[in-house]
Amino acid sequence: MAAATASAAPLNRPGRRNGQGPIADDDNLVFETSHGVEAISSFDQMGIKDDLLRGIYQYGFEKPSAIQQRAVLPIIKGRDVIAQAQSGTGKTSMIALTVCQMVDTSNREVQALILSPTRELAAQTEKVILAVGDFMNIQAHACIGGKSVGEDIRKLEYGVHVVSGTPGRVCDMIKRRTLRTRAIKLLVLDESDEMLSRGFKDQIYDVYRYLPPELQVVLISATLPHEILEITSKFMTDPVRILVKRDELTLEGIKQFFVAVEREEWKFDTLCDLYDTLTITQAVIFCNTKRKVDWLTEKMRSNNFTVSSMHGDMPQKERDAIMAEFRSGTTRVLITTDVWARGLDVQQVSLVINYDLPNNRELYIHRIGRSGRFGRKGVAINFVRSDDIRILRDIEQYYSTQIDEMPMNVADLI
Ligand code: ADP
Ligand code: MG
Repeated sequence: MAAATASAAPLNRPGRRNGQGPIADDDNLVFETSHGVEAISSFDQMGIKDDLLRGIYQYGFEKPSAIQQRAVLPIIKGRDVIAQAQSGTGKTSMIALTVCQMVDTSNREVQALILSPTRELAAQTEKVILAVGDFMNIQAHACIGGKSVGEDIRKLEYGVHVVSGTPGRVCDMIKRRTLRTRAIKLLVLDESDEMLSRGFKDQIYDVYRYLPPELQVVLISATLPHEILEITSKFMTDPVRILVKRDELTLEGIKQFFVAVEREEWKFDTLCDLYDTLTITQAVIFCNTKRKVDWLTEKMRSNNFTVSSMHGDMPQKERDAIMAEFRSGTTRVLITTDVWARGLDVQQVSLVINYDLPNNRELYIHRIGRSGRFGRKGVAINFVRSDDIRILRDIEQYYSTQIDEMPMNVADLI
């Protein structure tokens, strides 16, 4: 039986940009690099295999983004790399194209393993790999929780070059010896600060100890707090670092605002007032708990607003269906939790609402980064109660950014 949902979702095709914001290009982005990293301004000059190069151009990438200009070469040369860049500037896409370059397709064994924090992100990355690697016949598999174990076994026994997965299911498949690790030469942790944080660290280590000793490790994220950088020496060898100072991390193209709602009870009416603005393109609304997502969804619907919603307690089939509808633009307003905070790429999202302020500074960057993909325009609106103002000012200061009161004409900015 075909699970037609997630795989039927159309992929974003780059190349068409609707915003006037800066392209994720050299001029606007400043990095701190090690090992004399240089920027290479064309995919042609990177020594990429011809059939992969064709795939990259066919997919719509004309020119490497700033992070791709700097990090692709060290990665394909086999170095351990820590790569940080602003949200939506092509990091995950870079993982896809570098793993394609790294694998030897004449050897049908898993050679690269990519771990991501959510099933949807792992699946998205698999799709990009299959798209850019189309002409080289890459075999990739998304090994993720909530899907049929039988299908995993079938795909892995058939033989794939790349696995993009979530830690739990990957570990499970390794322990069953269905996912054989002896040919793995590259481990990539996307959203690596999340992957190395408390919730995931043990699972990552569990996977890591099954991997060959001469493993190349690549860490990717928009946010890399100090405590994470500090532990990298435990499993990386003299890594090439491409980092962004935190006062360079917010994007010019994403305008940030707040609405002073004073009390929790007033958030709902504020959201209803904004509904027309939400549907101009597509919007993502973040709440801090699954229960609140359910509650807000119900309440919006009972007031005759059309919304969809997604969180981690829903069956995977339903999550897939909601993703597919949102990616295709069939639904325009998505109420969700932080399961949606990182990595997911839907280019038409131009508005993010923090119905609740996020629980940490990193999540703020990731949430607002669901809009303004690859230089497009974006708007983020934070609902702040009186006792939240402190938190908002802290975020503003921490990233040296500006969060103004929402103007009347906010719709014009979308
Ligand atoms: P990040 O992981 O940094 O948030 P993604 O890799 O998800 O960014 O890419 C964001 C968007 O930009 C995606 O829609 C992707 O297809 C597009 N993109 C990435 N690299 C390029 C490129 N070199 N040229 C054009 N579009 C690109
Ligand atoms: Mg990403």
